[in-house]
Amino acid sequence: MSNNLPKIAWIGLGIMGSPMSENLLKAGYEVTGFTLEQDKLDRLAAAGGTAAGSIADAVRDADVIITMVPASPQVEAISYGPAGILENAKAGALLIDMSSITPQTSVDLARNAKEKGIRVIDAPVSGGEAGAIEAVLSIMVGGEQADFDAALPVLETLGKTIVLCGPHGSGQTVKAANQLIVAVNIQACAEAVVFLEKSGVDLNAALDVLNGGLAGSTVLTRKKDNFLNRDFKPGFRIDLHHKDMGIVTDAARNVGAALPVGAVVAQLVASLRAQGDGGLDHSALLRAVERLSGSQV
Ligand code: NAD
Repeated sequence: MSNNLPKIAWIGLGIMGSPMSENLLKAGYEVTGFTLEQDKLDRLAAAGGTAAGSIADAVRDADVIITMVPASPQVEAISYGPAGILENAKAGALLIDMSSITPQTSVDLARNAKEKGIRVIDAPVSGGEAGAIEAVLSIMVGGEQADFDAALPVLETLGKTIVLCGPHGSGQTVKAANQLIVAVNIQACAEAVVFLEKSGVDLNAALDVLNGGLAGSTVLTRKKDNFLNRDFKPGFRIDLHHKDMGIVTDAARNVGAALPVGAVVAQLVASLRAQGDGGLDHSALLRAVERLSGSQV
């Protein structure tokens, strides 16, 4: 199929990247993807995309390159070096990095890409796997206004609330704040769940009425069934939230912002991971509260 839409390369077809790239395919974009797992490449091909054998093959003809990998080291690995994006993309291409990484990595990437004539925006997202599938993500962008404007039609296929927050790295700073709020919110919900269960009230009913008042939240709406069913299949892995708590703690220290509650929750996330729960969904913070409360987990 050939049309006037920009050709997309997608690097990183994980929990988020797979459904997001499929939303572009449904909207008529041509998507060529590369990722480390063969089953995810097969999934892209089954959805109508093209599976590439390497990053170079994926990005060579692309007008827009979207990356969605775990963290800063992976963004650097796919971007730099002879086999990386910057060496193999065409000049004038727009690189949209949607991974959640340190703001400084985004700033450095934009500077290095500019030398190759490649434009970059950082565009991390919030909304989780469900938000990715439903194309209702919040997308927080850092970079130049003109590049934001160029990216907007593509981003509108992936999300609902799309905001330019400032220069390169600003999207990541806002995402770090997002992760602080989400972790603290999950922790509060988890503590409420253990308290309510130990008190013997109907948890399902309690969470419904709580969610209708000031205590209600997207976290409670999205994670209620995880709490009720002790279903901790990810979703968003504790390993990734541990990474994000490191980013926000470090970034806040750099600007002299105190995060006392965030620091405690960062320790609880780290402890959960150290106990072997890093691969579980972040709603598994419930397990940490249960352990602290003397329950068998
Ligand atoms: P994931 O681990 O499911 O997927 C990451 C993908 O990156 C994998 O498919 C892997 O093959 C690919 N990858 C890693 N290194 C690569 C390389 N060198 N070359 C090519 N591909 C490579 O992670 P995810 O949950 O999809 O998260 C991706 C990013 O989005 C992370 O930064 C995360 O913090 C962020 N995020 C995740 C969620 C969520 O709910 N899962 C929500 C918002 C933001």
